[in-house]
Amino acid sequence: MKTPSKEENTKLDFIRQIVAEDLKKNKWDGRVRTRFPPEPNGYLHIGHAKSICLNFGIAAEFGGQAEGLDMIKADSVGCNLRFDDTNPEKEEEEYVNSIIEDVRWLGWDWADRLYYASDYFEQMYQYAVQLIKRGKAYVCDLSADEIREYRGTLTQPGKNSPYRNRSVQENLDLFERMRAGEFPDGTRTLRAKIDMAHPNLNMRDPVMYRILHATHHRTGDKWCIYPTYDWAHGLEDSIEKITHSICTLEFENHRPLYDWFLEQLDIFHPQQIEFARLNLTYTVMSKRKLLQLVQDGLVTGWDDPRMPTICGLRRRGYSPAAIREFCKRIGVNKFNSTVDIALLEHCLREDLNKTSPRVMAVLRPLNLVIDNYPEGQVEEVEAINNPEDPGAGTRKVPFSRELYIEREDFMEQPPRKFYRLAPGREVRLRYAYFITCMDVIKDENGEVIELHCTYDPTTRGGDAPDGRKVRSTLHWVSAPHSLEAQVRLYDHLFTNQNPDDVPEGDDFKSNLNPNSLEILSSCRVEPSLADAKLLSRYQFERLGYFCADNKSSDGKLVFNRTVSLRDPWAKIQKAREK
Ligand code: ATP
Ligand code: MG
Repeated sequence: MKTPSKEENTKLDFIRQIVAEDLKKNKWDGRVRTRFPPEPNGYLHIGHAKSICLNFGIAAEFGGQAEGLDMIKADSVGCNLRFDDTNPEKEEEEYVNSIIEDVRWLGWDWADRLYYASDYFEQMYQYAVQLIKRGKAYVCDLSADEIREYRGTLTQPGKNSPYRNRSVQENLDLFERMRAGEFPDGTRTLRAKIDMAHPNLNMRDPVMYRILHATHHRTGDKWCIYPTYDWAHGLEDSIEKITHSICTLEFENHRPLYDWFLEQLDIFHPQQIEFARLNLTYTVMSKRKLLQLVQDGLVTGWDDPRMPTICGLRRRGYSPAAIREFCKRIGVNKFNSTVDIALLEHCLREDLNKTSPRVMAVLRPLNLVIDNYPEGQVEEVEAINNPEDPGAGTRKVPFSRELYIEREDFMEQPPRKFYRLAPGREVRLRYAYFITCMDVIKDENGEVIELHCTYDPTTRGGDAPDGRKVRSTLHWVSAPHSLEAQVRLYDHLFTNQNPDDVPEGDDFKSNLNPNSLEILSSCRVEPSLADAKLLSRYQFERLGYFCADNKSSDGKLVFNRTVSLRDPWAKIQKAREK
């Protein structure tokens, strides 16, 4: 494939434009190498999906286009998966495994390029020694609090550390002894020697190493000094020869520091490009807050279907295609904004509408007996699996004298515009017959517990030979054939569009939605769902999209409502255009 033309370029987002331009100018010898660099201190969320789709997407698109560009070599385009595991205190194997699973599930491939920042610890140490030798780094004995104090403010320059002018020899010696474990935690740091009066606070002699006697999930107790994020981050990209180092806006102010380190060391220098992170309404996106929800037992785990984590979305019934489409639609830009969660759900519905088999399920069952239907008789009616996909075929659904219909599809005293079942009224049962409600049975509290109806045998398949019409079609299941299931209905996890919008003294947890989960335990589903595979997705006709929970079994069927059928997105957009 060829480099996009100028016109085509205008359709590309600003990052893809940069990549396309660079390819045209052969800036990186025709290479495009991106990376996704998660810190394994939590599970990935939908915000990470934006970064994943951007980095892997660029690599895939420009790689796919490589043929027309002679200078692109086969192995020169791709996206690395790199664990930024420089902080032993919060990182765990469990997170590493979940991240690998989630990126793969989203549909991306890093071939053999799975890397760990911790594999570069020795190299980073050597780079630090080089800086010391060039008089560009020093060992400092100030405490963390003192360092902060000496740092100054946006309006006030900082003060030089009294240890700033140690000799190279002394610095080399102390740094080596820091590594050897001679000093307790927090007693010394290695700092870059830049400028304590620099207008950018990140340049005021930032810390490169701190002493931390902690066990790392991969390097064990080999190290007791660990690199800071600011020191490590640019080096990781350089070591992997990343061409376009794409990160979120909050690192714009750190770029001069990364540039400084790479220039001092005179090593491969990737181009950093910043974009706006994803924010979503009704959603918290920080791993720290998500961890809090898990630890405080406010959700059932990282994969609770209400969580914005990739594993939560997966268990909820999201498809990778829907998430990728969402990431495409939101695009990338330089300004922080908040995306309406309705757009995410819109992309989901679009995908599920095309791909989900239709089935019938009754969430709140009401008994219905067809008095003139022969007792003991069972018919199989033919039902369409997916009207959007003729290839999906049809299936047989058993029909009998005793059925369940949805409680809310019947009203004893129907108001105007309620066209569903009511005493004396005729409606259609989907794929089956017209029925008319003849009698209503109530319990001692006056609650309707059973309907008695008659059916018209000539309407089989759903049309009357005399041409008479009915105004509604109801879904149903055959009582003796249907299976019991538990269905979990979900709503937004927070009641406030912006969960962090709280009165002083409160935190985001005070915006949790007390009704975000409703469990219905006596639902009835058609028998074809007996062997529903875990995480398989369905449309329950007239109700919404549902997904077999990952702990569902034929002994105890459990379905999660992924999303309802009604899509408010078009309306939201129209309102916005006004
Ligand atoms: P969090 O703030 O949620 O803890 P993080 O930035 O600390 O996230 P990392 O593991 O460092 O998490 O993230 C890996 C990559 O994902 C980074 O390049 C980061 O820029 C990107 N990323 C994280 N959150 C978002 C988001 N909301 N939108 C877009 N990209 C994101
Ligand atoms: Mg981070």
